[in-house]
Amino acid sequence: MISYDIGQSGQSLEFVDKVLSHFERHRQIRFWQREAGGLLFARLALPAIEICAITGPRRSDRRGRYSYWPDEKAEQREIDDMFALNLHFVGCWHTHPEDVASPSQIDIRNTTDCVKRSRHVLNGFIMVIVGRKDIPAGMCVSVCDKASVYELPLSRGTAPQRPATATPTYGTVRNDRR
Ligand SMILES: [Zn+2]
Repeated sequence: MISYDIGQSGQSLEFVDKVLSHFERHRQIRFWQREAGGLLFARLALPAIEICAITGPRRSDRRGRYSYWPDEKAEQREIDDMFALNLHFVGCWHTHPEDVASPSQIDIRNTTDCVKRSRHVLNGFIMVIVGRKDIPAGMCVSVCDKASVYELPLSRGTAPQRPATATPTYGTVRNDRR
């Protein structure tokens, strides 16, 4: 399990091992591997938000090396099914073919749009982008609200840290990605 601090809230975001190994499996390590993605579901055990279920990719998603368009109908069914199991939809994940992932402009726009449209148990929406490096070094975990995207730091004691050079530059434009 690894854990991230959510700002000054005293809350933490935890990923169980099953979810981490799902990320691990879909890293775009080979040149032919396409972007993958899906939804994240949590059990609320405040102050911990425990991400314990994950979906995707699905046969019906449209996936390219630098793009990913989920099957939105399938997503809605997943949200309904998980809700019945008392698991809350808290965000989404997808992969990037870069060593240390950071959100593209399109990721930021799509996610802030999504927050505006959805009613949600949390104030923000979790966005995980999985890069090629090992987990968690290559992975970017953010919380998005209606206006901005904030990257979350690993909780103290969760090793290894992301490399210092990995600070994402949100200004990078990669129009071919979402
Ligand atoms: Zn992306």
